[in-house]
Amino acid sequence: MKTQRAARHNFIPGPVPFVVSGAQGVFLQTTDGRKILDGGGGAIVSNIGHGRPEIAQAAAQALTGMGYVPPLWPTENRLRLIERILDHWVIPAGGEAVFTRCFFVSGGSESVDTAMRVARQYQVAQGRPDRWRVAGRATSYHGATIATLSVANHDRRRKPFGAMLADHPKIDPLSADAAIKDLEAADPASLAAVILEPVIGSSGAALMSEDGYWPRIREFCTDHDILLIGDEVMTAYGRTGKKMGIDHLGVVPDLLVGGKGLGGGYAAIGAVLAQEFVVQAIAAAEDSIMFFTFSGLEVSVAIADRVLQILEDEDLVARSARMGAVLRARLENEFAEHPNVANIRGLGLMQGLELVKDREAGTTYGGALTPLVISESLKRDCWIYPSGSARVPDGLMFGPAFIITESEIEQLVETVRAAIDAAAARLAL
Ligand code: PLP
Repeated sequence: MKTQRAARHNFIPGPVPFVVSGAQGVFLQTTDGRKILDGGGGAIVSNIGHGRPEIAQAAAQALTGMGYVPPLWPTENRLRLIERILDHWVIPAGGEAVFTRCFFVSGGSESVDTAMRVARQYQVAQGRPDRWRVAGRATSYHGATIATLSVANHDRRRKPFGAMLADHPKIDPLSADAAIKDLEAADPASLAAVILEPVIGSSGAALMSEDGYWPRIREFCTDHDILLIGDEVMTAYGRTGKKMGIDHLGVVPDLLVGGKGLGGGYAAIGAVLAQEFVVQAIAAAEDSIMFFTFSGLEVSVAIADRVLQILEDEDLVARSARMGAVLRARLENEFAEHPNVANIRGLGLMQGLELVKDREAGTTYGGALTPLVISESLKRDCWIYPSGSARVPDGLMFGPAFIITESEIEQLVETVRAAIDAAAARLAL
């Protein structure tokens, strides 16, 4: 009976692992008394950990004496968060704030969708109505809406929707030379923007392009007046051990989008940041930005501001770098010789394992290994985030909250090791 009740939660019928009743630190509790180690930070979201009372206080304060305010009007909470993000979080090397505008949305897909629209509006404002295509990488994920699925290339997630997806060019994800050739072949005069993730997450298990890739794409975009969109939905706000993923790359995009860690799992919020020349062109053409009803919802901005303040006060970005190094060393130690692990990679507390059938033979299970590892891991009370698409058919992502301790990392890696071994043994039968 209990299981039947929980099964109503599934939109598409399927098994229900458990019902979550609470969460504290890096653990989720279930109604049947289990304590699940949250090695994936949910969906690489949780950064300050679960169950923080300061967040409940910030939410209560925001909701007291304030209801719904249309997104285009400023409130104190909105202004404070804009100032915190633009003046303290997104300052590229050199110390000058290059992003001057910040627009709130309700999550990652909405932020990418908005950036695509802003790029299109910029090109139209410049008198170039033929430019609408947004080049994405051949291994990438940018969201679940039709537009964001079109621009990315997560093969399994795109599969049922092929006929509905617009024709945006796909470029090589790793080699700068190959990516530039792809952009030239795509006809730069048809492009409004190029979109790149600093570390390719959901589709690539923390895959990164070769050094020099981002600067070359930056140069190409500048030369052709194509906007560069940095998709930092997964990498922003400390996840990679620096404030922003672009801080590792020495490149500043024209638009930068984020979500996930901005609300730390406590609020549905994303933010689109823009350089001034982009919005000035749109303003000069007397165009404006479309908002979502819940853009900049009072409680969401108040929570996000408190999440960022906690990250600052507790020096948690430095901790993400430090614990990321501990996790990476432990992963190298455990998996360097493992037959089912082809690669260990990532930055800070965004670490990935590329899984294979046999690393010597270069064979894969074509996507069948990941779900088994996840289920074996959950059996052992540990959650780890699945990843992978065509180039990387099977992968796992480690993205715990930055407050994770060394002994919790030990428990996480040991459990995932046992899960991989058990899953591979099942497939080998
Ligand atoms: N962009 C990237 C890089 C992501 O990793 C994701 C989600 O995983 C998205 C966009 C979509 O974000 P959301 O699921 O919050 O809509």
